[in-house]
Amino acid sequence: MALINPTPLIGFKGSSVMTIPEPCVSQYSLTVDAAETIDLMTASADNPWGRRLHDALVFAMGRDETFAVSPYVSVNHEDFAPQGLDESSLPEVGDRSVDAVLSRLEKAGLVTTRTVLHESTSENYLSDNRIVTAVRVLRPFALVSVAYRWSSRSLLGYADQWEITDRSYIVPAGCYLIGEVGELVYDLVGVAGVAGDSDDTFYWLYDLEGFSASHCLAGCDSCGARWSAECGSWCFEADACDARSWSFDDAEGFEGNTIGCPQCVSGRVGFMIF
Ligand SMILES: [Zn+2]
Ligand SMILES: [Zn+2]
Repeated sequence: MALINPTPLIGFKGSSVMTIPEPCVSQYSLTVDAAETIDLMTASADNPWGRRLHDALVFAMGRDETFAVSPYVSVNHEDFAPQGLDESSLPEVGDRSVDAVLSRLEKAGLVTTRTVLHESTSENYLSDNRIVTAVRVLRPFALVSVAYRWSSRSLLGYADQWEITDRSYIVPAGCYLIGEVGELVYDLVGVAGVAGDSDDTFYWLYDLEGFSASHCLAGCDSCGARWSAECGSWCFEADACDARSWSFDDAEGFEGNTIGCPQCVSGRVGFMIF
């Protein structure tokens, strides 16, 4: 339930299909889900290929050994014999995190990467830190996973049995933006296929309604008082009215993402973070 209608407050374009994320309001917490801000990015993608890179990254973080292959060269069982593996034609790119997989893909000459933003929660209302990485896929690739086994416990050295367990769709060459959120460990949230990457990418993201999550508006449904706060601050100042200022630290009457009005007491105050 949003007590503030977002339309008049942020001048939403009527044609837009996106809505800004709902804030999460409780005692000691005034945030928006960082993952939902990444969703704003993927919803504004220029093409649908982000899904391919997303699935390939998840694939590469799977259980089996993962190799990058050229989509136009056929590979068979023998190519993955452990004693004859050629790192230059069949680079191993599987790893435990997006970051580690990307650096393996980069080492294999398949991608270049650039950090667009790496933000903590200190100057905004995000629930978690977030990272956006621009990736340029230099040539298309697919991934193949292989499970290696040893037929006997006493066998030393190379595995003597292996099978191809899966194959990903082709990841087309082009530019992508990868969004992750977390604290110490980051989760892959989404990947957007974009027409290009430049210094403007950062501003493009911040122009997405709701992405910056650094402004907060509060409004009462009863007395009509309006307040605003900036950059993650909990100090609310009157916004074009003469209501008194207040701090979210002192907020009371939490109920369904609203608080009791500090001005008229009987009204409910809703929030919008954008
Ligand atoms: Zn009020
Ligand atoms: Zn700031």
